[in-house]
Amino acid sequence: MLEQINELPKKAAKKHQENKKFFAKLKKKPPKNLDYIMQELHENEFEQTDCLQCANCCKTTGPLFTNIDIERIAKYFRLKPQQFIEKYLKVDEDHDYILKKVPCVFLSTNNYCSIYDVRPKACREFPHTDRKKFQQISDLTLKNVAICPAAYNIVEEMKRRIKSY
Ligand code: SF4
Ligand code: SF4
Repeated sequence: MLEQINELPKKAAKKHQENKKFFAKLKKKPPKNLDYIMQELHENEFEQTDCLQCANCCKTTGPLFTNIDIERIAKYFRLKPQQFIEKYLKVDEDHDYILKKVPCVFLSTNNYCSIYDVRPKACREFPHTDRKKFQQISDLTLKNVAICPAAYNIVEEMKRRIKSY
């Protein structure tokens, strides 16, 4: 898995133009059953990919934290939301709360998340490949294929499956 992760930015860069073209067409005319296709591709991929062997998202990007995330996680630590923010978060250029630094401070040994049950919504949903109307997050997906081996594989399979694009 480590080799696969190290190779990923290079592999994704090679596919970037092809992916960009594919998503541009997908956005214009998504297949009627796209939600169904994505659900199937996502489930197939995550039957084979074990996130505990990877954790590259936790190591390299980290999530954004919504106000609801902050309240929930602060409560878990018996902190006030403001105390949690001061201890762990900063504001990015889009005015979102993000981690002060990566790898994520909550990433524990053996790639376990130490706040798994209360983790941010963005962590639960990453890499968003089972999201409805997947064509709407193509810019994000173009970035995620360089971080997440599962997202990379799903997009490759997607291109094979939706051949007319
Ligand atoms: S979601 Fe993707 S990047 Fe994150 S641990 Fe799983 S395979 Fe790795
Ligand atoms: S909160 Fe947990 S799942 Fe989210 S980035 Fe940190 S370690 Fe990973």
